[in-house]
Amino acid sequence: MFENLSDRLGGVLDRLTKQGALSDSDVSTALREVRVALLEADVSLPVARDFIKAVQEKAAGQNVTKSVTPGQQVVKIVHDELVHFLAGDDQNPGDLKIDNAPAPILMVGLQGSGKTTTTAKLAKRLKEKHGKRVLMASLDIYRPAAQDQLAVLGNQVGVDTLPIVKGQSAVDIAKRAKQQATLGGYDVYMLDTAGRLHIDETLMQEVEDVRNVTNPRETMLVVDGLTGQDAVNVAEQFDGQIGISGVVLTRMDGDGRGGAALSMRAVTGKPIKFVGLGEKMDAIEEFHPERIAGRILG
Ligand code: GDP
Repeated sequence: MFENLSDRLGGVLDRLTKQGALSDSDVSTALREVRVALLEADVSLPVARDFIKAVQEKAAGQNVTKSVTPGQQVVKIVHDELVHFLAGDDQNPGDLKIDNAPAPILMVGLQGSGKTTTTAKLAKRLKEKHGKRVLMASLDIYRPAAQDQLAVLGNQVGVDTLPIVKGQSAVDIAKRAKQQATLGGYDVYMLDTAGRLHIDETLMQEVEDVRNVTNPRETMLVVDGLTGQDAVNVAEQFDGQIGISGVVLTRMDGDGRGGAALSMRAVTGKPIKFVGLGEKMDAIEEFHPERIAGRILG
């Protein structure tokens, strides 16, 4: 992941560091390269611009050109700004709001983003790490295979799934999940909504209806981290129409260019809470901005 960006930034900043005394124009040159590297990593132009501006201001404020180790200082500023852009002021990105049992968590996203897999991964985590009783329900009435898939994953991770009743609407299933979660004494119930290949009105309306009858504590958008700017566009649309509370970036085990992570927070203002790192049920971790920033810098 982030190979292009990492090599590029690493190279420029290394050269800077070796030069010792820097001029303002050296810093500008380096930052131009950083900007190109960000754009190549599929960071959106306004975000790349804002990022460079923030670094420039910090560099000027700290008088880096007069310091003994200007290159290292620029590296540090770039690193710190990366963390800041990635995380905002979040302290614990992996915390989910699950007070007031049974707490509904709505899982939304496009088909193929990894939504069902992520639902089961998070359920497993809530069970094992937080000792919660979790119920999962598939609201995908269009693809019976999706409902079966969630049941299979539920079995695999030892988490209950709501029995499938054919012919029910998504809203009816959501209501049934809520009732079952209440009666059954569950702490959390997770609603895996239907994904579509593209965002469309019917999908959005259905998710909105489900949201209105369940009032979720968290609405997690699952997006494919490999899709770069598209992932950010999807997030903006879901947030605009439904309102999301956080993002899970999947396929971060692949060698995507990573721009999505950087743009996501800046554009949507919503935290990346988790990253998916593979197909296995344990392959998820809470978002570590330091780790990603470190990887970007190499
Ligand atoms: P959905 O249509 O959004 O519910 O997507 P699925 O959960 O069915 O996932 C689609 C495919 O992506 C499956 O083969 C998953 O195993 C795979 N997948 C999901 N998350 C990740 C991830 O973080 N990394 C990798 N490499 N594969 C993933």
